[in-house]
Amino acid sequence: MGPGDPVLGNGKLARRPRGRPGRPRLSGGGGGRFSPATQPTAPPCTDFDLAYFKAYSHLGVHEEMLKDRVRTESYRNAIRQHQDFIAGKVVLDVGCGTGVLSIFCALAGARRVYAVEASDIAVQAADIVNENNLSDKIIVLHGRVEDVDIDEQVDVIISEWMGYILLYESMLASVIFARDKWLKPGGLILPSHATLYMAPITNPERYHDSIDFWQDVYGIKMSSMKSLAKQCAFIEPSVETITGESVLTWPCVVMQVDCYTIRVEELQSITANFDFSSMLQAPLHGFGFWFDVEFNGPMGIEANSDATVVLSTAPEDSPTHWQQTILYLFDPIELKKDQIIEGSVTLSQSIENARFLNIHIQYCCGGRSFVKQSTMR
Ligand code: SAH
Repeated sequence: MGPGDPVLGNGKLARRPRGRPGRPRLSGGGGGRFSPATQPTAPPCTDFDLAYFKAYSHLGVHEEMLKDRVRTESYRNAIRQHQDFIAGKVVLDVGCGTGVLSIFCALAGARRVYAVEASDIAVQAADIVNENNLSDKIIVLHGRVEDVDIDEQVDVIISEWMGYILLYESMLASVIFARDKWLKPGGLILPSHATLYMAPITNPERYHDSIDFWQDVYGIKMSSMKSLAKQCAFIEPSVETITGESVLTWPCVVMQVDCYTIRVEELQSITANFDFSSMLQAPLHGFGFWFDVEFNGPMGIEANSDATVVLSTAPEDSPTHWQQTILYLFDPIELKKDQIIEGSVTLSQSIENARFLNIHIQYCCGGRSFVKQSTMR
């Protein structure tokens, strides 16, 4: 991470070398079932939005995403899988960045691609499109998808909108806006479905590194630093890579998104109950979150192969730049095997900035009740 890295909010990278921020099959799966009675109205572009787009004007963020082969190749595989549908059709790429997904679609035979990008990386996207002799097919529109003019309905919407813990950045709202304004009935949305998971995790090394460290520093007692160290290390969600060994139970599903039908109102606040049973005796250090997205075709349209492409950010799968997001407890809880941890989690858009995410977890364990509240800024 260098001094020139893009920031979102309080010094956080827009896609953090923390990793930007993974599923049972979701309900339904057909395209064109959503037909809004009225055209959506563009929400105002706030100073927070401008800061967000500025973060995406930096090359490093796009380099990180492009170098994430799991991410980028999943999209390419999904486009290839739906090639028969895409060929000869009109595509809208919401947030095209460097234009990579637009180019994949053009190479898959799309007749025309609207590559919409609000940040200044749109200038480079246009150069890249020219360099690949695709300017007759790909139209780069530099602006918010909520503000650009597109004079026709589209057959396909593609977007890489997922943030850490899936919802951070709130970009899905822009995809919904585009869907309601331009997608033809029966059109394809890539990805089509997303699922957010949560599970209790143990991570003794991390706790030791950040907290126990202060016990003895070159033979000097610094335990008085521990409470400050807990505040510094654990007040905010931490984006880091954990392995499947840190996960103490089967995950629960916090949220399922059907991109064909979800409405913006449903994203403002999401609550899920959980009832975990620890598979191990281990200290509970926090709760981990990850997501996956699926690339299903619209109802009735078969892809080239039966296997749906799934892009997973789960700890047991290959790492991605999203890593996992962990909410650490200030103090670990010693869990026995089969011990129950029950409670609920609420994810809500922050009032201070709709792109920030409040995470509220209340849980009972061993007869005691706890609350963990954190904001991803
Ligand atoms: N599609 C590219 C970039 C994905 S990152 C790739 O896969 O590599 C998401 C991009 O969407 C960012 O470049 C961001 O600036 C852009 N974006 C987010 N919201 C947008 C909006 N409402 N209108 C236009 N672009 C948007």
